[in-house]
Amino acid sequence: MDFKLSPEEMAFAQGVRAFLDEEAQHPDAHDFMDPDRDAHSQLANSRQRRDFCKRMGAKGYLGMSWPKSVGGQEIPGIFEYLLNEELALRGAPLIGKGVGCIGKTIIRHGTEEMQQRFLPLILDAEVEFALGYSEPGSGSDLASLKLKAEADGDGWVLNGQKVWTTSAHFAEWYWVAARTDPDAPKHKGISVFLIPMDHPGLTVRPIETMGHHRTNEVFFDNVRIGPDALVGELNKGWTYVCEALDFERFTFYTVNPLLQKFERALEALRTRARHGKPLSEDMGVRRAVGRLGAEVETAKMLQRRVVDAASKGGVPAIEAAMYKVFSTRLGQEITNFVLDHLGPAGLLRKGAEGAVDGGVWEHFYQTTPLDTIGGGTSEVQKNIIARRGLGLPLG
Ligand SMILES: Cc1cc2nc3c(=O)[nH]c(=O)nc-3n(C[C@H](O)[C@H](O)[C@H](O)COP(=O)(O)OP(=O)(O)OC[C@H]3O[C@@H](n4cnc5c(N)ncnc54)[C@H](O)[C@@H]3O)c2cc1C
Repeated sequence: MDFKLSPEEMAFAQGVRAFLDEEAQHPDAHDFMDPDRDAHSQLANSRQRRDFCKRMGAKGYLGMSWPKSVGGQEIPGIFEYLLNEELALRGAPLIGKGVGCIGKTIIRHGTEEMQQRFLPLILDAEVEFALGYSEPGSGSDLASLKLKAEADGDGWVLNGQKVWTTSAHFAEWYWVAARTDPDAPKHKGISVFLIPMDHPGLTVRPIETMGHHRTNEVFFDNVRIGPDALVGELNKGWTYVCEALDFERFTFYTVNPLLQKFERALEALRTRARHGKPLSEDMGVRRAVGRLGAEVETAKMLQRRVVDAASKGGVPAIEAAMYKVFSTRLGQEITNFVLDHLGPAGLLRKGAEGAVDGGVWEHFYQTTPLDTIGGGTSEVQKNIIARRGLGLPLG
């Protein structure tokens, strides 16, 4: 396996770094670039964040892999992956679901009208989307979703509920999977719709999760939509949902934040003592650090396998499952290990007097579990590895 970047790829990554160095000088930089921030709080909205995304758009960083006919540059997805790694390293917003799953699905399946309406907005970072997949009874088994979309004239009426919809409280558009044929087998009766977030009949209620990450539940009460809200073909929604996950392979799996977390862990341990003895001289600490260091390298290699397979045109479902389950568990383990050795001050949160390292470890403690759930839980990833990777029977 050749892990080296080509000269063109290296030059691109350097260009992104230069752009981010310049952005770091911006008076509002702390509102959109903060390496202490985890992936989830990057989702928070602000004018500064949107302005930054617009500057990324102006620089040509949005929609790079899209076809030229719709404003893209037709360059390989690896460049989007490189861009996201650099953004993640600086705690800047990643290129996101508009350019990724939603834009690409509209390009492949949307009507001409839908393409003209949404694609320019996405390229200019003028629109924010929320993804409405999960429901109270349907998360891991998403195909069992029940949100009802009943035919009404040439449109539909939607009734039911979604849950865990990140961004619903500031997004303009809702990308929603709903059941349009209750009698068809569960994978074949789902359609995807695009609905304005302020549409009559939609109610968004907050759910506060650990680590101050806000997500939402969304209620549909006789939400009437016209035929233009349907994405692609009726009852083909499951195909689009799965395809969208494939589109995300290049952009979802950044490793830089994990490497950075490990570097910070080393720094925290290097500079502290217990009972007058530096932690760096403690044999237990040294052994654990050695093991974690080896695992960080393993995570890096697992991630490269995702990128390598995807860059050759494959769908690296098993590689991605391996990387996700391994790296998210490792992120939690590094955090727990550091907290075990920081003493009580390590538990103080951001802003508290005496908080170690600005309270970042307490913050990581609360946010790293979310990584093991969002985008498919660890158990689900293990099932993918067991069944599709190792050919084991369904348990
Ligand atoms: C930070 C964050 C952001 C999110 N954002 C969104 C969003 O924007 N839009 C959206 O639609 N959803 C979103 N989600 C929801 C996420 O996709 C679901 O939480 C996830 O798919 C799990 O579904 P669930 O919560 O219903 O849990 P369940 O599916 O009910 O799982 C409960 C437990 O059972 C285990 N389990 C389930 N099935 C199996 C099985 N077959 N074998 C073994 N164990 C199993 C799971 O691993 C888990 O431990 C988000 C979640 C998080 C944490």
